[in-house]
Amino acid sequence: MPLFCDVALAVPLDMVFTYAVPPGMEPVVGGRVLVPFRQQRMSGIVVELHDRPPQVKTKKVIEALDLSPVLDEQLLKLGKWIADYYLAPMGEVFRTMLPLSAEFKRSVAYRITDQGRLALHLAGMSGSPARSKRTPEQQLVEFRVLDYLAEREGVREERLRGATRGAKTLLAGMVQKKWIAREDVSAARDAARLVKVAVLLGAEASPPLDGPEARPHTGSAKTLNANQLALIEALAASGGRVPVESLRGLDVPRTTLGTLVRRGLIKLVDEPQCFTTSKLKPRQSPFEFEFSAAQKEALAKIGEAVGSRKFAGLLLHGITGSGKTAVYLACMRQVLEQGRSSILLVPEIGLTPAVAADLHQVFGDEVAILHSGLSDAERAEQWHRIRRGAARVVAGTRSAVFAPVSDLALIIVDEEQDSSYKQEETPRYHARDVAVMRAKMAGAVVVLGSATPSLESYYNAKKNKYALVELPDRVEMRPLPEVEIIDMRQEFQETGQEQVISRKLAEEIRERLEKKEQVMVLLNRRGYSPVVLCRACGKTLQCKNCAVSMTHHKRERKMECHYCGHVERIPDKCVHCGSEYVYFVGTGSEKLEELLHGMFPQARIGRLDRDTVRGREDFEHALNALNEGALDMLVGTQMIAKGHDIHGVTLVGVVGADMALGLPDFRAAERTFQLLTQVAGRAGRGQSPGKVVLQTYFQEHYAVQFAARHDFAGFYEKELQFRAWMHYPPYSAIANVLIRSEKLDDALTWSGELGRWFEKTRHEGIRVLGPAAAPITRLKRDYRYHFILKSPSREKMNALLRAMLAEAAVRKIPRTQVIVDVDAVWLM
Ligand code: ADP
Ligand code: ZN
Ligand code: ZN
Repeated sequence: MPLFCDVALAVPLDMVFTYAVPPGMEPVVGGRVLVPFRQQRMSGIVVELHDRPPQVKTKKVIEALDLSPVLDEQLLKLGKWIADYYLAPMGEVFRTMLPLSAEFKRSVAYRITDQGRLALHLAGMSGSPARSKRTPEQQLVEFRVLDYLAEREGVREERLRGATRGAKTLLAGMVQKKWIAREDVSAARDAARLVKVAVLLGAEASPPLDGPEARPHTGSAKTLNANQLALIEALAASGGRVPVESLRGLDVPRTTLGTLVRRGLIKLVDEPQCFTTSKLKPRQSPFEFEFSAAQKEALAKIGEAVGSRKFAGLLLHGITGSGKTAVYLACMRQVLEQGRSSILLVPEIGLTPAVAADLHQVFGDEVAILHSGLSDAERAEQWHRIRRGAARVVAGTRSAVFAPVSDLALIIVDEEQDSSYKQEETPRYHARDVAVMRAKMAGAVVVLGSATPSLESYYNAKKNKYALVELPDRVEMRPLPEVEIIDMRQEFQETGQEQVISRKLAEEIRERLEKKEQVMVLLNRRGYSPVVLCRACGKTLQCKNCAVSMTHHKRERKMECHYCGHVERIPDKCVHCGSEYVYFVGTGSEKLEELLHGMFPQARIGRLDRDTVRGREDFEHALNALNEGALDMLVGTQMIAKGHDIHGVTLVGVVGADMALGLPDFRAAERTFQLLTQVAGRAGRGQSPGKVVLQTYFQEHYAVQFAARHDFAGFYEKELQFRAWMHYPPYSAIANVLIRSEKLDDALTWSGELGRWFEKTRHEGIRVLGPAAAPITRLKRDYRYHFILKSPSREKMNALLRAMLAEAAVRKIPRTQVIVDVDAVWLM
């Protein structure tokens, strides 16, 4: 065995750490080890085994956690590429790639023994556990511990102590008495997550626990008390099989279940938790209809590329409603039939439940789903299923690009332009670009799909880096909706007041409601009013942590900062001058819903935004309601614009989607064009044609004009020109370097120092803008200054950034306060 290993640890330092391998221990490259680091133990990934003695004294590896790699050669290589490309510490990259953090925590769990159950039972009858020398308080705590454990399996120490206030010594005493058992749950478990299920045994009850002491009270069903009866009835009513967790809703004491188990009427079994599938009803199966000629051609092209077993990139540009999803599913099915694996990335799985439903319908158990709504344990479970080869069809959000599939044949990136593919924390990778790189390394095919491709991808397709595949028409030749632009400045002049809903939009809505058709209204801003303004001094209410206005939330009666989450009371006086003339200005989705209620009191209106959607369930609920005709109208933020396919919607009203055009961000036009196109695409997906009423204050802006005409090519040509002039992507690589500190002085000094350094070392061809105050000058308490780098050569840019980080280290600027964002998507 080699004497040393180099370990990547998830710490913000751009280096790996060398440890000595004790004799007899066998760590593997790509496997995890537990090592001492500063005063702690940390797990990291072994990146190299070698015999080169390091300069400094090394510490020893504590434990090798894996017998075989958790990151295979390809994923290790991909991780190193990410670390290099995005200038991120390798250990932090690996941590992002592996969803196994839950398995690193070493901990202890307790379970109740048969003796413990007996003690509990006796206590239940006599009011106190068997006679003892312990104080009544102690006995009470013991009772609580037994009671708590009686219906649970393997409760972790922290949770048990939290729930029962049992001291460690008390638990140790109970272990000695053999009432409870203690076990180590730290070992990585490659097992599906189990849940306790209560099963009603009915007449053919099996004999209860062995041993006379365990069944002091065996009796027939006739002697059941009210609680026991209630529980049994509830079980019977739900088919005789119910997770124990869901029996908690019943108003019966905890011990009842235990008693029934002892009496042999119910048994408890461990069952793998059914993989939480989507509740949205799947659509028509994608294989029930005849594919259009364009769909067939797309499928053939992708199939051919997959068959060649070489890397290929394809851009699937299909207008809204052209049937891209069916093409994805058909490709994935082909790949699965060949026994190979595929990955489908979606921007936000919670927001595209339909995809999950479709996948389950087509692939059943072969599907694994990875997204941010899963707990650590659930994510680990999915990860293990994929690695075992039990699931070869993977769908998920950003980090699913790291799914440990073998024999990867195809990665599909749906809505490839979506900014949620970019991670806004270290490592700041872009999942679409990582997908392309992974496909290259694996000799696989990557398909980027969109109705509104990003400028970067469109440009790459034009340069023949990707093959362009188009679905130019909607399925069954349905027409794209007609778009009518309403100039809101003119509306103001004609009506003499600021309108939220124009006369034209109101009229169109009324018409649809009369015809029993459905309406969606987009306002891309949540809350009630975005600004609180003082008429006396003209100041607004700002967040105390950020340089942004607080938003008024009427129903929840609070002011909230949408950047840091800070919450305050609703002010009745100006915080600056004390004046009582404070006004709530502007409209958010909450107020829009209220306004629409006022105008159309008969209509059933739902709202979708981050305030009404807490989890995936809420989202599916609202969409199902619309789908089934239980709602007439749905208002919401950009959430309503993405991907849904609801056939009854014939009118889309856009009340506010062009706010971004006022922001200092070179992608504003692109984002606005994409959002408008996406939301317009929700109209007319069924039999009746759709219409869009687009209200705007920027009516002559080209993003608005091209979106209204569904003219993708026109928009791209114009936007590419602008990017070329301004040296923005795709013509230049860009990076955003952000210097932040809670102390204004530090932020100023550091950015000044780095500014002078950039000045001195300025490289040929690389433009460095800054330092300048970031558009949001203060965020989450940090003062922020930034540089924007533009360079035709990415290598040169990254070399300069690396040198800058070295300089920052020399100047003792903490690494965490200098954020390097390569290919930044968000420049605010
Ligand atoms: P996109 O993702 O391109 O906007 P979808 O994949 O959601 O479009 O498809 C739009 C609708 O058309 C869906 O209801 C889908 O089931 C249906 N569909 C797809 N292909 C066909 C086809 N060849 N014939 C009829 N309907 C189709
Ligand atoms: Zn004031
Ligand atoms: Zn804030």
